[in-house]
Amino acid sequence: MKTQQFVVIGLGRFGSSLALELMDLGYEVLGIDRDEEIVNEWSDKLTHTVVADATDEEVLKSLGVRNFDCGIVAIGNDIQMSILAAILLKDLGLPMVVAKAISVLHGRALEKLGVDRVISPERDMGIRVAHQLVTPNLLDYIQLSKNYSIVEMNVPECLNGKNVGELHPRARFGCTIVAIHRENGVIVAPTAMDQLKTGDIMVIIGSNENVEEFEMMVN
Ligand code: ADP
Repeated sequence: MKTQQFVVIGLGRFGSSLALELMDLGYEVLGIDRDEEIVNEWSDKLTHTVVADATDEEVLKSLGVRNFDCGIVAIGNDIQMSILAAILLKDLGLPMVVAKAISVLHGRALEKLGVDRVISPERDMGIRVAHQLVTPNLLDYIQLSKNYSIVEMNVPECLNGKNVGELHPRARFGCTIVAIHRENGVIVAPTAMDQLKTGDIMVIIGSNENVEEFEMMVN
């Protein structure tokens, strides 16, 4: 078992899949849901599960929630409950509080409460899928901030045999190739002399606009 401990509040579709993945990664997870049936469903798959109302401060205290490294509020549909649970986790002093938002305004409210990371799964997935649909070589797209993103894409046929220097990604597109994955390893921070081959995966960072231009060039 790894040392970091997570508490997941709300074991709906998002919360349960997040909790299960953390378990698979070797972490300890306490799952809390007010619905007994849902808790029973996950009780043998998570380290601990509890039927509780996460908006009850005394209950959270008695469960020792303040000792966890990270708390995730995975309640989406009930915005009031989500906000109350997030306030309590912040007040309890957990080093990292993450919360799922179901709308822009919900996300803004969570940010104002000091939630360290707000996640909007549907919105983020919509953006990713749109990029993947228009750029067949695109494998993954992560928005780092409002203006910057990082993308992972297959090296297309047109770049086979070219080295990074010939491509001039920074001068032509304002993008940086930060890594090249290939079967026998990863080249981190490739130099101008490193050669691209079909079958490789490049990881590119840049402003949204520049990354899009790069995507169009290799499409
Ligand atoms: P999803 O869309 O990911 O399935 P939902 O918002 O539908 O998310 O599910 C959230 C879960 O959170 C539900 O299982 C619900 O029982 C639980 N939940 C809602 N309010 C509370 C609360 N105050 N305390 C604990 N669990 C809660």
